[in-house]
Amino acid sequence: MLVVLRLGHRLPRDERITTHVALVARAFGAGRLIYAGQHDSGFEESIGRVVSNWGGDFQIEYSKNPLKTAKEYKKSGYKIAHLTMYGIPLPEKEAELRKILNLLVIVGAEQVPAEFYEIADFNLSLTSQPHSEVAALAIALDRIMGGKELSRTFSSRFAGKMEIIPSEKGKKVRKP
Ligand code: SAM
Repeated sequence: MLVVLRLGHRLPRDERITTHVALVARAFGAGRLIYAGQHDSGFEESIGRVVSNWGGDFQIEYSKNPLKTAKEYKKSGYKIAHLTMYGIPLPEKEAELRKILNLLVIVGAEQVPAEFYEIADFNLSLTSQPHSEVAALAIALDRIMGGKELSRTFSSRFAGKMEIIPSEKGKKVRKP
């Protein structure tokens, strides 16, 4: 399973960004998002509504101690990929990453404590330039999934109350 750990959620500053991290995680194939920092029931409810409407098996969890959480995942057999502009360009590790069955992908918000760089099996960069955790996560998951989350067949796995019918023009949504 792919699990995303989002560090350092701050209210109100990160409300939208953490929501977008969760939306990307779900749409691009992760089964769970764990967030740390400030607890935010509004964020949890808004992602819950997305899952209820659009389907899929996606959970949100809160962690008070994300380093402990990361260590527990590692102990249970997960590999850890930490996304940081200081890391190794992701394409250099892509083939290795695709072979991993259980992967915890970590993204930061404010400064990420050094322990996460140490515990990570991979510190990975997308472009070696500062940008955004949302963009970094989307591209990383796309590479790790080998692009299959972009196909029509992948979207059918969500089976929600609403389903988009891909259209050349307009918006087609059906309720299965
Ligand atoms: N200033 C913070 C630091 O020194 O760790 C980083 C802030 S950045 C807006 C928030 C998060 O976006 C980072 O922790 C990282 O996960 C992700 N990120 C930003 N640029 C990245 C890049 N080029 N490659 C991979 N991840 C990146």
